[in-house]
Parts: sequence; structure tokens; C-alpha cells
Amino acid sequence: MTAETEEDAFEAIRAHPGGVLQSELWKELGVDSRKCSRLVKKLLDDDRVERIEYRKEGIKSYLLRAVKQPAEPNLLLAGSELIPCVACELECMVDECPLLMDWMYQLAIEEFNEEA
Ligand code: SF4
Repeated sequence: MTAETEEDAFEAIRAHPGGVLQSELWKELGVDSRKCSRLVKKLLDDDRVERIEYRKEGIKSYLLRAVKQPAEPNLLLAGSELIPCVACELECMVDECPLLMDWMYQLAIEEFNEEA
């Protein structure tokens, strides 16, 4: 992979929910450390990622993590039905969740009715 834009860098950072070291990121992106720093700076300036100082064996690096963005409220609704994941306390198996499937079915019905 060769990252061309900050969007590429953002997706790469977001793929590591626990964060990724900046010293690893540029290798993953296939760019040099200078270009990686420029991409990361744009993401930091836009508050899309956070940077935490990190030391390993006395060497300073930075852990980068995507900042969670607030969800669009209308993306959480199928008609008037709120997505079941809000306040869910079940052990999550998203691929098999009947509550989520029912909600997505409801969403498809709502969208079909809006188009008709
Ligand atoms: S996918 Fe199902 S189990 Fe997972 S958080 Fe949503 S409602 Fe809960």
C-alpha cells in the first residue's frame, strides 16, 4: 500500500482500534517518515486522530488513535426505531445478531417505502 492522502492514513490508523505507533505507520503506508508526518499533522489539525507520547526501550514514539466521531442521529434510526446496539449489554456477535438483523430489515422497509 502506498498512501496518497490523509484519508488513506486515517483508514490505516482506524484499522488499529488500540492505536498504531507512528514509527510503524509510515512503513505500513509505504511512504517515508516525512510524508507520514505531513499526513498525520493534517489529521491532528482536523482532530480526527489523537497522538499519545509513547516510550519503548527509551525511544520516544507516538501512538496514534482515531478519534471517535459522534454518530449522525438519523443514522441510528430505522423509522422511529432506534438501533438496538445503543445501550446493548449482550455479548456482541455482530454477524449473527438477530436484534440487529431485525433492525436492518426494518431500515430496508423504511427506505423502500420512502422510494415508493
Ligand atoms: S450487534 Fe446485537 S449484540 Fe451487538 S451491540 Fe448490536 S444489538 Fe447488541
